[in-house]
Amino acid sequence: MKIGVLAVQGAFIEHEKALSTLGISHFEIRQSKDLLTSFDGLILPGGESTVMGKLLRDLKLFAPLKQEIEAGLPVFGTCAGLILLSKTIAEDETVHFGTLNVTTKRNAYGRQLGSFKTFSNFKGIGSIPMTFIRAPYIEAVHDKTEILATVNHHIVAARNRTQLGTAFHPELTEDVSVHQYFIDMIKENTFEGAS
Ligand code: GLN
Repeated sequence: MKIGVLAVQGAFIEHEKALSTLGISHFEIRQSKDLLTSFDGLILPGGESTVMGKLLRDLKLFAPLKQEIEAGLPVFGTCAGLILLSKTIAEDETVHFGTLNVTTKRNAYGRQLGSFKTFSNFKGIGSIPMTFIRAPYIEAVHDKTEILATVNHHIVAARNRTQLGTAFHPELTEDVSVHQYFIDMIKENTFEGAS
């Protein structure tokens, strides 16, 4: 199994460390030629979604990755990565991949209150540490999207079949259980490529 980690901006190195801890092979996606490597899952890290969205388009990564995600490539977006996946961004016309059927609110706790650490229950795992940085939360899930975690009545993790999104940063703690959850999602999946 091999995971591609989007590495144009943000906290991608921490995801690579979590994957290394789990013994999962991975590589960085920085330019379109990196997509010639075949891979079984994609991680979209935290950072700044507006910057990442622009770089994805400028570097011609946007269309091929969107096509792969729509075809069923398993994807895990954290924080800004969740925003990139969201079908709707609250009070914002912008849509990036728009493949995960949720409405996400950027900087949802306000710029001052958006960074904190807590523990909460993650469905199928149990209580885990959650680190939030200028965090969004999921305002609503639609269709068959499943809520996996909430903090103070706000949805902070959701899954729709092959897509997983968290408002927090599992890669910024020592706990690799959400990465393991994503690996298990990939193992369940029968994706064989977009074309
Ligand atoms: N506030 C950022 C955004 O809107 C996300 C913050 C993060 O990824 N830590 O893109």
